[in-house]
Amino acid sequence: MEKSVYNDALRYHEKGRPGKIEVVPTKPHETQYDLSLAYTPGVAQPCREIQQNPEEIYRYTSKGNLVAVVSNGTAVLGLGDIGPAAGKPVMEGKGMLFKIFADVDVFDIEVNEKDPDRLIEVVKAISPTFGGINLEDIKAPECFYVEEKLKAQLDIPVFHDDQHGTAIISGAALLNSLEITGKNIADIRVVISGAGAAAISCAKLYVQLGVKQESIVMFDSRGALSKSRTDLNEAKKQFACDMDYQSLADAMDGADLFLGLSVGNLVSADMVRLMAKDPVVFAMANPTPEIAYDEATSVRDDIIMATGRSDFPNQINNVLGFPFIFRGALDVRAREINEPMKIAAVKALAALAKKYVPELVTKAYNMENIVFGKEYIIPKPLDPRLITTVAPAVARAAMETGVARKPIENWDDYERELSA
Ligand code: NAP
Ligand code: MG
Repeated sequence: MEKSVYNDALRYHEKGRPGKIEVVPTKPHETQYDLSLAYTPGVAQPCREIQQNPEEIYRYTSKGNLVAVVSNGTAVLGLGDIGPAAGKPVMEGKGMLFKIFADVDVFDIEVNEKDPDRLIEVVKAISPTFGGINLEDIKAPECFYVEEKLKAQLDIPVFHDDQHGTAIISGAALLNSLEITGKNIADIRVVISGAGAAAISCAKLYVQLGVKQESIVMFDSRGALSKSRTDLNEAKKQFACDMDYQSLADAMDGADLFLGLSVGNLVSADMVRLMAKDPVVFAMANPTPEIAYDEATSVRDDIIMATGRSDFPNQINNVLGFPFIFRGALDVRAREINEPMKIAAVKALAALAKKYVPELVTKAYNMENIVFGKEYIIPKPLDPRLITTVAPAVARAAMETGVARKPIENWDDYERELSA
């Protein structure tokens, strides 16, 4: 199966016009007069209008619906530092997902630059073109610095999806898991394997959702992050704990949540047996999780389990987030994607999973019925209600936090537009 999907993918990408996306004109261009409007001399007029009033760029150009998917290719999927050119299929793919799920247009921008400060300069320099910047597959810890600086310097949303997308989707899964098991988020003990882009962002968001920072123990490739270690970068230092855990098994004893954002096959069945009653295991290393779905669920009846894989229940899939988060942010011309907007996305996703699932969705997954519970803690990617649920929640939070330049006036009209 694996081999054939890889062969099929090569044929898929090369067939017809190579690659996965193209540029399509949105205005008539049949007559000579059309062309004199689209280009010179007519085009001079929108140029003058924008020169006089910069906000008019949203009225006369594609900026407001255009996102740059920017990567330097230093952490592409699980493939590592394969460089900007080799990363292009991924960025084009992201562009395709933005378009099909939320009608957001994307230019994929592969940048041959590893130096964080120079990468920042490049993104700043091209930013006038775009309504938002989706940073993608940039390695940790540089990704934290690049995003932080760009957020501070640009007045359009900058969002590193590998960090926050994962945090938002898994955050929704966490809230629902705790609801099912009746645990209070402030009481749970959390073990995190991985201290990279995704893990650090998840830990920060979970703390905002109510997890106590001192209840988190995080591991990197050298062991638990503890205050006695001298090799930790700034991002890791925030999660260094007082205890010196000797091993992952040591930390798993009595844990309520295991979050894996590291590498495959690190967690044994015995470690899962050590966890507290009603344990939650999100084993999200791709493509091989920290522990296989079947193995973990076979040793505990009371477990709630999620992975990054589509062939098991509860796939933590970033596509549940980024298209709709950007949709909502762009629609109010948000200056940023801030923490309340992320939390709004978490809550919207969590709430949607608890609603009755229409037949359209069950059919798409060839299932009889889908009901909120241990095997359905987050919505399915092909649920058409995602856009009308997540985008308005994000837009509303942008308005409430004062970062929306163009507030939505009629929410019913907006939802109708979104579902059109
Ligand atoms: P990353 O920035 O490269 O971070 C990987 C982290 O794993 C690093 O902190 C690394 O430690 C740690 N690690 C490596 N070997 C380890 C070991 N034996 N024990 C404990 N920790 C170990 O990568 P990322 O973007 O955060 O992604 C991490 C993984 O999660 C990948 O497999 C990715 O595909 C997956 N992921 C899945 C989803 C999803 O399913 N929705 C979303 C995002 C990411 P050092 O810091 O010491 O190098
Ligand atoms: Mg990515």
